[in-house]
Amino acid sequence: MKRLLLAGGGHSHVFVLDALARKPLVDVEVTLVSPFDRQVYSGMLPGWIAGHYEIEQCVIPLAPLAQRANARFVQAHVARLDLAARIAYTEASEPLPFDVISIATGPVMNLDAIPGLREHAIALRPIESLIQAWPRLFAQLAALAEAGEDAATLTVLGGGAGGVELALAIAHRMQTARVPARVQLVTGKPGLLPTLGEGVRRRIARLAPARGVRLIEDDAAEITRHTVLLADGGEIASDVTIAAIGAAAAEWPREAGLAVDERGFIAVDERLQSISHPFVFAAGDCASMVGHPRPKSGVYAVRAGPPLALNLLRHLAGKRPRRYRPQRVALYLISTGPQHAIASWDGLSAEGRWVWRWKDRIDRRFVARYAR
Ligand SMILES: Cc1cc2nc3c(=O)[nH]c(=O)nc-3n(C[C@H](O)[C@H](O)[C@H](O)COP(=O)(O)OP(=O)(O)OC[C@H]3O[C@@H](n4cnc5c(N)ncnc54)[C@H](O)[C@@H]3O)c2cc1C
Repeated sequence: MKRLLLAGGGHSHVFVLDALARKPLVDVEVTLVSPFDRQVYSGMLPGWIAGHYEIEQCVIPLAPLAQRANARFVQAHVARLDLAARIAYTEASEPLPFDVISIATGPVMNLDAIPGLREHAIALRPIESLIQAWPRLFAQLAALAEAGEDAATLTVLGGGAGGVELALAIAHRMQTARVPARVQLVTGKPGLLPTLGEGVRRRIARLAPARGVRLIEDDAAEITRHTVLLADGGEIASDVTIAAIGAAAAEWPREAGLAVDERGFIAVDERLQSISHPFVFAAGDCASMVGHPRPKSGVYAVRAGPPLALNLLRHLAGKRPRRYRPQRVALYLISTGPQHAIASWDGLSAEGRWVWRWKDRIDRRFVARYAR
């Protein structure tokens, strides 16, 4: 009996599990290990903050999905890999032996990237920590406003799509709940949405101030309890600082001896196989395809699901996995607070309530496919 270990409930693995549920494997024992019993669909998270969704609408429960796939579900973090013995260890040192391992554990946040971040900021990763923190924070700010206190200042750090959507969602939620607050977005020196086209950047630069989000194009150099110090020497007040500073690589794959790229992400070939250990597959934000670098983005993690499932099955059956090339251009649908969004595709952009409805349909359909 061969053993397949799926590490992480990431977007590619929900597809793999669904494929296994449709066509069960014979003679393969499948285990899923992931620290939370649900996978958050991050594309809907800003909509939850903005008040458009309940959290249950934005998550895929993992245990029932694993059960349908005839997989054992272990709720834990992988903390260490012994590649020679082919054993993964959880943080509680539970050994999880495997013949083939597939890793879709996503990114982590580097809490040491900015002095004071670890102590004074709410980190966006793991996303579950933000999901815990936000309702408490919102209730506190609402209570302070009720008590007639001054408006609080909330700062989001990070000018990528996640940071932009989050800042606009927070501003919208505060306005609709009539909780006075100042919201600011520290984009970093590269500015707003540096990997997207000029059109979408211009749209956000126009919309953000109109929606009550102050834009600051500078790097955060240090975070203290009530301030953010900027690289150019300024200091801005901040009662609550939320870090959305982008994807970093977990250390355990590199420490295990897996080949990684220059930023520490697992280096895979076009078959989604580790270039150093062919019995290791990886997809999504934790992986980096040699020769085809792509932005860390849910779109690519989702698209890697079908080729990953196919290649795991072929490898387990002793066949050569197939090549897969991620698409060069991806569609981004960026929500802007109210039920309005901006679409970005290869330098083109458009916006409106219709874009939100389009995004809402895509997002709901993705979750509904796996959340049963
Ligand atoms: C607010 C926000 C909005 C975003 N919106 C969009 C968007 O609209 N479109 C888009 O394309 N991208 C978006 N992104 C980016 C997107 O979230 C990521 O690119 C995407 O989540 C990567 O998917 P993944 O499956 O690789 O990892 P993840 O979604 O992070 O999934 C990783 C899984 O592995 C589990 N895990 C983590 N560590 C371990 C471990 N050590 N052992 C076992 N399991 C582990 C996690 O709990 C999780 O279940 C957004 C990000 C944020 C923060």
